[in-house]
This record gives sequence, structure tokens and C-alpha cells, in this order.
Amino acid sequence: MGDSIWSQTTEIPPRRVLEGEVETEVAVIGAGMAGILTAYFLERAGRQVIVLEAGRIAGGQTKNTTAKITSQHGRIYSKLIKDFGRQKAVLYARANEDAIAEYEKIVKENNISCHFERLPAYLYSTTDKKALKEEAKAAALAGIHAYFTEETALPFKTQGAVCFEHQAQFHPLEFMQAIAGDLTIYEHTRVLRVKGHTIVTDRGRVRAGQIIFAAHYPFADIPGFYFFRQHQMRSYVLALRKVQPIQGMYYSMDQTGLSLRMEGDILLLGGGSHRTGKAEPDTGYIFLRRMAQKYFPGHQEIACWSAQDCMPHDGIPFIGNYSLLRPYWYIETGFQKWGMTTSMVAARLVTDLICGVKNPYEKLFSPQRLHIKAGFPALIEDVGISISGLLKGLFNRFFARSGPVLPGRCSHMGCKLEWNGQEQSWDCPCHGSRFDAEGKLIDNPAVQSVPCKIKEHLN
Ligand SMILES: Cc1cc2nc3c(=O)[nH]c(=O)nc-3n(C[C@H](O)[C@H](O)[C@H](O)COP(=O)(O)OP(=O)(O)OC[C@H]3O[C@@H](n4cnc5c(N)ncnc54)[C@H](O)[C@@H]3O)c2cc1C
Repeated sequence: MGDSIWSQTTEIPPRRVLEGEVETEVAVIGAGMAGILTAYFLERAGRQVIVLEAGRIAGGQTKNTTAKITSQHGRIYSKLIKDFGRQKAVLYARANEDAIAEYEKIVKENNISCHFERLPAYLYSTTDKKALKEEAKAAALAGIHAYFTEETALPFKTQGAVCFEHQAQFHPLEFMQAIAGDLTIYEHTRVLRVKGHTIVTDRGRVRAGQIIFAAHYPFADIPGFYFFRQHQMRSYVLALRKVQPIQGMYYSMDQTGLSLRMEGDILLLGGGSHRTGKAEPDTGYIFLRRMAQKYFPGHQEIACWSAQDCMPHDGIPFIGNYSLLRPYWYIETGFQKWGMTTSMVAARLVTDLICGVKNPYEKLFSPQRLHIKAGFPALIEDVGISISGLLKGLFNRFFARSGPVLPGRCSHMGCKLEWNGQEQSWDCPCHGSRFDAEGKLIDNPAVQSVPCKIKEHLN
């Protein structure tokens, strides 16, 4: 995996490692967009807060985002209205519109130079005009300034698009560098487990009154059972120069669609998605390069990168109390590839919960909600994949010792890892943990590397 254009153009100063024992009012686990924003608001609310980060600030998925700040989240409003009713769709829309406005406010108040720009966001399709019109109607019913249009700036034929006015984009790392400013952040400090108010890291311990899991995918399986309630999807991005600029931001509702936005004279072309651990032949960079060649001939590829995100079964992120059994633990996860606005929603909501302030979105995002009907098909699929992964992992452990790769089991729950040839990594199809070719941990929920001896070159 390469460095994103964000990482290539920002150098966030390093922070020290946590050694020994520390006591604090609030501890945030994870220094991605969600964790840093949460610490930022808590500190402004007068709380004593520290952030524990396994790697570097923004070194997880946030450095590899495409950084559109939108309330346009794919074909979501028709689904929300169908599954939960109009009132919940209105709340979802408002939460995300508030988030865009809050970014703008922080940028202006702190004079942050991060290319923040208001632009329209378009949801398009090359096949389904009816669905686009339905989504335009649903988004408008949810209170968004959205409308169907036949006009797009795309270099290929579409069935039209839903235009969401007054959305935004920015440079996420320049923004984070500014707001991380004076926060107390410990880098290269991985949390191994949390027991009650005690956080055990690979270097020391923290005792905290309240604990926020902003580690992207939560690693404490019980209580909460988040491993049972979401899976992870990978997506890929190419940065292209020498292309005809495109006005606005674009996202496709088609299964193999593309995401497009400009950053200066650079086009960010995203797509090639697949479930983590289940890369198909025509996905990832292979798919994107084919599309780039087709629609932007003569382009120059200057960077490529990838990331993954958590997909909750019912289509609504989990933000709030981790579990009724741990009222002092909080969770921010399930951002379904829209974690710029959702991190802001999460940061405001969790700050309000901790400070005892009423928040209008508490119920909508509550992790304690139960919408079995809305999430049932995804739940069944996930359970099937997890059982299959666990059985293959067990088979590997007991019978496949002489295979080309030893042992190939995830350190999270023991599912069989799958080789991702495009990214040279071992990926878990069950919950999305990833390891490099030598078994070193890349992505959670696993917290430990795996012993992994490769006997032959795999591709
Ligand atoms: C290709 C792609 C494009 C995207 N584009 C957009 C977009 O345009 N707009 C949008 O809104 N969203 C987008 N997203 C989604 C968005 O990027 C993510 O939802 C968001 O960055 C997640 O932020 P986070 O803080 O939750 O996670 P992360 O950024 O991953 O932060 C979590 C942090 O926790 C740390 N951590 C993990 N485990 C531990 C541990 N045990 N101890 C200590 N620290 C730990 C990690 O190192 C990491 O730094 C995109 C996603 C993908 C895949």
C-alpha cells in the first residue's frame, strides 16, 4: 500500500510513548478523526483527557480517506425511511448537516488552512434512474436540499444524479494537525485490554474515569459484541494528474461504481471495494487502473492507497454507551465509509453524554438499539462467513501444518486468514483484521501480530 497524498503533504510532529502508570478523567483509545475530535471537544468542555494511539496520529484509516464531508452517504435516505421511518431519516440528515457546519466553524474560528471548500456532492448511477429519483425524493423528505438532475460533469454516460447542495471537502491531515495541537496524545502505545477502569497498554497502565473506544473497530469483544454486528469493507484510491478537472464530488450507487473528487489539479478516483479478506480478481487497484485508462486516457498516476471501514448491519453507526454493563465505556464505530461527518457526530454526541448534556441524536445512534429486521440479511451473511472462517482456521491449526503458510490464523478469534495479493497482506474475512506478509499487525480488531512463516512466495 502506498502513501496517500495527505500523508505525503503533512508531517504531524511525533508524540511521546506512554511509560508507567497514569491516571486521568477520560481516556480516548485511538487518534483517528473520531478520537482526536472527541478529545478536542472534551478538553474544551474542561475535562482532563488523554489519547492512546497504537501507531501515529491519523495513522489508521483517516490518513487514507478521500475526505468528502457530506450528508450524502450513498443510497441511504430511501433505506432509512423504509426501515425506520421519516423521523429517523430527518435526524440522520440533520446530524450530518450539523457536522458539516461544525467543521466549517472550527476551520474558521481557528483559522485552519486545510483547503476546506463547500461544493455540491452528487450521487449518480449508470443504470438506475428510478432509484436515483427515489433517493432524491427521500433526501428531500429528510430535509436536505437535494434534487435529481440529468447533468453531471463525469466523462461517461449516466442515468443522472442526485445533487446535494452545500457539502464540503478538505485536507484531513492538515485539519487534524491543527486540532491535535495541545492535546495530550501518546503515540506507539497500543492498548492490549481494558478491564473496568484500567487500560493495559504494551508499555504501561492507565486508570480512567471514562473510556472511549475510538479505535475504528472495537477490540473488546465482551460486552458489546460488536464483532457480531458489523464487518469491514476495503476500498482503493488512485491519485491522477493530467486529467480534465471535474466540478463537484461524485459517488456512485452502483455496486462497482466510482468515487471522484478533485484536490487541486489532482483527481482522486476511488472504488474497487470488496469485503476485507475476500478480494475478487477484478477489484482493488486492478479495477481502478482499468477504469482510469478507460475514462482518463493520458493520465499520470501519482499515488495509490487503500483503507477499510466498518459496515453495521442496520446501516446506522454505533455511537454512545459501549454496553449497559459498562456505563463508563463509550463507543464510536460503524462509520460505513462516511467517517468524516460521522466522526464529528460521534465526537459531539459522546462529549455531550460524558458532560451530561442532552443530545438530539442519542437515540438514533444508540448502540443499545435493536433493529433485527433492518439488519437481518447482513447478520445472516456475516454469521455464515464467520463460522466458515473459524472452521477453516481450526482445520488449518490441526491438519494443515505442512501447507505453504504457517499457521494463517487470525490472533483475534482464530479465523483463517486469506492472502491479499494486491496488497501483500493477510486479511481476515470474519472481522477484518489485517497482517503484513511477515504476520505483523496492520489493522484491528486484533491487537497482536501472528507468527507467520511464509515458505513460498505467494501472489
Ligand atoms: C477508501 C476510503 C475512502 C473514504 N472516503 C471517505 C470520504 O470521502 N468521506 C467520509 O466521510 N468518509 C470516508 N471514508 C471513511 C473514513 O475515512 C473513516 O470512517 C474514518 O477515517 C474513520 O476514522 P476513525 O477515527 O474511526 O478510525 P481510524 O482513523 O482508523 O482511527 C483509529 C485509530 O485507532 C488506533 N488503534 C486501533 N487499535 C488500537 C489499540 N488497540 N490501541 C491504541 N490505538 C488503537 C489506530 O492505530 C488508528 O489510528 C473512506 C473510507 C475508505 C475506506
